[in-house]
Amino acid sequence: MELSRDKPRPKPHITGYCVYEKSKNREIKNPKQIKLKNGRPAIKGTCAICGKAIFRIGKMK
Ligand SMILES: [Zn+2]
Repeated sequence: MELSRDKPRPKPHITGYCVYEKSKNREIKNPKQIKLKNGRPAIKGTCAICGKAIFRIGKMK
């Protein structure tokens, strides 16, 4: 199913720290903007490498 007919635009690569692999710069798949209890923005998703939950502080661009 074609959802978008827009011209292809490069997906922003969002990376975070994977606590399971103890590795930085892991791509966050299916990133979602969330808000922490203290009101700070954060991004939550799954690690592209190991598939575990991954999370970083900040906003999605
Ligand atoms: Zn990982």
